Amino acid sequence: MEMKKNDLFETVILDMSEDGAGIGRTDGYTWFIKDTVMGDRVEASVMKMKKNYGFARLVRILEPSPQRIPERCPVARQCGGCQLQAMSYEEQLKFKERKIRNHLSRLGGLPEDEIPMEPVMGMENPWRYRNKAQFPFGRNKDGRIVTGFYAGRTHSIIEHEDCLLGIEENKEILEIIKNFMEEYNIEPYSEEEHKGLVRHALIRKGFATGELMVCLVINGRSLPRSRELTERLCRIPGMTSISLSVNREKTNVIMGTEILNLYGPGFIADCIGDVKYRISPLSFYQVNPVQTGKLYETALEFAGLEGGETVWDLYCGIGTISLFLARKAGKVCGVEIVPQAIEDARENARLNGMKNVEFFVGKAEEVLPEQYEKNHIRADVIVVDPPRKGCDEKCLETIVKMEPKRLVYVSCDSATLGRDVKYLREKGFKVERVRGCDMFGWSTHVETVLLMTR
Ligand code: SAH
Repeated sequence: MEMKKNDLFETVILDMSEDGAGIGRTDGYTWFIKDTVMGDRVEASVMKMKKNYGFARLVRILEPSPQRIPERCPVARQCGGCQLQAMSYEEQLKFKERKIRNHLSRLGGLPEDEIPMEPVMGMENPWRYRNKAQFPFGRNKDGRIVTGFYAGRTHSIIEHEDCLLGIEENKEILEIIKNFMEEYNIEPYSEEEHKGLVRHALIRKGFATGELMVCLVINGRSLPRSRELTERLCRIPGMTSISLSVNREKTNVIMGTEILNLYGPGFIADCIGDVKYRISPLSFYQVNPVQTGKLYETALEFAGLEGGETVWDLYCGIGTISLFLARKAGKVCGVEIVPQAIEDARENARLNGMKNVEFFVGKAEEVLPEQYEKNHIRADVIVVDPPRKGCDEKCLETIVKMEPKRLVYVSCDSATLGRDVKYLREKGFKVERVRGCDMFGWSTHVETVLLMTR
């Protein structure tokens, strides 16, 4: 096919790639075109061509797909955080269900018609669902202090203080910080020069409690006039915790490890169901608490607890799932690699008066085999919720040896879930139930809960 960079062509979008790009064809050649939706007829311009496929940029929509909706965010394309902003929410849920199905059949080896797929759990309102955001500070071309989001894969700031996925308070908080900085000549941090003070603002909210947290990440150990800033931020209803995070490194890791408290107890609280959690600036906590509740309820349902069971919760973070299950189990043991998360988990257990939980610091693939060999631990139910890379084979091997009645797999990446399901099926496990949960509307990500039995 005779085509080169910037050439224009017309195509119809026939399919979507896993990362949310539309797929079109011309003369049997495949094109990936971002910002398009299945069913769109578009004009596109060639960006890059490989032997069997190429990438093109959307130029014009010639005929919109019935699935297309107007993008609500003015910076959706530049930001790149919402790959599916032009797709109706209903279609997004179908897209996510297809993604899970594909992975379970292609990678998991499950026959298409034997996938016990239940409807994806969608959000009632897919906007303003995030309880956490991190905003970088800098200066624009005119020298004004700005904040917003990094443009997809770069570190240039797109001015935008009211992301529609975030809470409404973000805008007001950022406004206060910016004005404060202008007024007292406090410099935003510049990555190129490794100079300036204010790097990021971390904002978190407990949706169930209404408590707000602001943590300013600074390239230094103190913030001039911090009393004044604290007073202004405290005018916002719900403000509970204000702190500084010291990060003087030349790094793109956002948070520093040291926290200096300015106001409040150093944490906020939130609840999922009737379990209460304490969240500090550095704690890991799911960003969509409403959907997290549904996810955990599903995990609980799949676990089929009757009261006396021993449960192992691997990759337990701050013990969120462990505590959720502990109300219905005999005993829950959690394993997590980050020591600080385990401290939070123990604190959360105390906070909820739960005594039937025990937490272990270490890698699941080390702690579990060790406990199994030395202490002959057993489990009626095992829950795993690994990071994107899935479970280590050593961990799966031990799970197989332990012969739990039920294995509940919570996954944030259905590709690695598929891979692990293949391994477990070969060792005698059977997939009983599968359900997706949409935690990240407008993005291509989806959580899956899957039940296996032996
Ligand atoms: N279940 C928790 C956290 C899930 S995120 C929740 O729902 O909130 C995955 C967790 O696995 C993270 O906390 C991460 O620190 C932890 N982790 C990553 N690799 C690990 C490993 N090899 N062993 C144990 N935990 C690990």
